[in-house]
Amino acid sequence: MEKIKMTTPLVEMDGDEMTRILWKLIKEELLLPFIDLKTEYYDLGLEYRNETDDQVTIDSANATKKYGVAVKCATITPNAARVEEYNLKEMWKSPNGTIRAMLDGTVFRAPIQVKGIEPCVKNWKKPITIARHAYGDVYKASEMKIPGPGRCELVYTAEDGSEIRELIHEFSGPGVIQGQHNLTGSIESFARSCFNYALDIHQDLWFATKDTISKKYDHTFKDIFQEIFDQEYERRFQEAGIEYFYTLIDDAVARVMKAEGGFIWACKNYDGDVMSDMVSSACGSLAMMTSVLVSPDGKYEYEAAHGTVQRHYYKHLKGEVTSTNSVATIFAWTGALRKRGELDGNKELSAFADKLEKACLSTIEAGKMTKDLALITDFKQPEVLNSQEFIKAIRGNLEQML
Ligand code: NAP
Ligand code: MG
Repeated sequence: MEKIKMTTPLVEMDGDEMTRILWKLIKEELLLPFIDLKTEYYDLGLEYRNETDDQVTIDSANATKKYGVAVKCATITPNAARVEEYNLKEMWKSPNGTIRAMLDGTVFRAPIQVKGIEPCVKNWKKPITIARHAYGDVYKASEMKIPGPGRCELVYTAEDGSEIRELIHEFSGPGVIQGQHNLTGSIESFARSCFNYALDIHQDLWFATKDTISKKYDHTFKDIFQEIFDQEYERRFQEAGIEYFYTLIDDAVARVMKAEGGFIWACKNYDGDVMSDMVSSACGSLAMMTSVLVSPDGKYEYEAAHGTVQRHYYKHLKGEVTSTNSVATIFAWTGALRKRGELDGNKELSAFADKLEKACLSTIEAGKMTKDLALITDFKQPEVLNSQEFIKAIRGNLEQML
């Protein structure tokens, strides 16, 4: 069989630990034999980030802006222990944070659903994609303990020195206060990323806040979404046959539990933090969760939702057998290849991505899986494969399909 040609390179961001091992295996077994793979390679492994003073992360984000599609392996976010372990010059920032800030993007996460691993919520037939706004609110709040009676106010001082004041509370005893903020520009980018992604994957978009109670703060989110929708997206949504739907957050939660899935749920920062953990835990495993960063101007960076699986890596280093699930990392590649195919009009490449995903799912549906899934499957006697065997089994299925 002739290898599938590519015209534009993917931005390839290599990573750390066990996922770096899987990365290489995936390329060798599932990609290189079938595709004339073109990538622009950036090594985001911690050692090279340290060597380049993290410049490589910045370069990889700039390359994503240039080419439009990237695929990223999980990377270590250094903490004190990692600074010692890798003898780092500095506690480098999270690459994901750096890339997200440079692309001004929103992260969309969705479970990979497969027969045999059923969600706890039995009416969830299709994945629910959570879009989490990644700026501000309680995550950038200032807080104060109030020791005793007194008056608390919000004070805005304009550049010309004029003031606007708003009473928070006249305290008659001790208490607590908190000041939150967000930025119009950030909310607008969040809205555009969500509308673009809904058009992209052809799914309805839900958005919810508590605007009935928070008449200025949350209401601003609601208004910005509505204005951008009316001005830029309404007609395109109609043409695509999809819907934008706003409701109150408590109503959204109630509806989500009764829904079938197959839509995008845009959440404010805190709601997204909480609800994405709910959706992923109901669907079984972090190793079955895809994640894509989408910028408001339509640049995409695909990755797995889990980390570098450090515990498995240390076993691997000791020569022990591991059973690490590579599905989310494979889906990062297929997501990126499909998108590249779409942008370049390369149908063969997109079709290959579809087939590779099917090959992963049919492997699991045939009862062959890694240990994390074997522990939660409905199948009576799953065959537990190690990291390498699982990828080889997927390759077997893929070859049959091609
Ligand atoms: P993790 O890599 O997500 O793994 C936590 C645990 O979840 C594992 O020990 C394993 O459980 C299970 N698990 C996760 N992915 C799995 C997979 N593919 N197959 C099988 N089991 C899987 O989180 P962590 O160990 O807390 O973090 C390790 C490093 O990842 C940290 O340095 C962190 O900074 C980094 N991180 C990176 C990203 C990213 O780049 N996107 C995201 C999160 C964390 P068992 O051990 O019980 O088998
Ligand atoms: Mg959380």
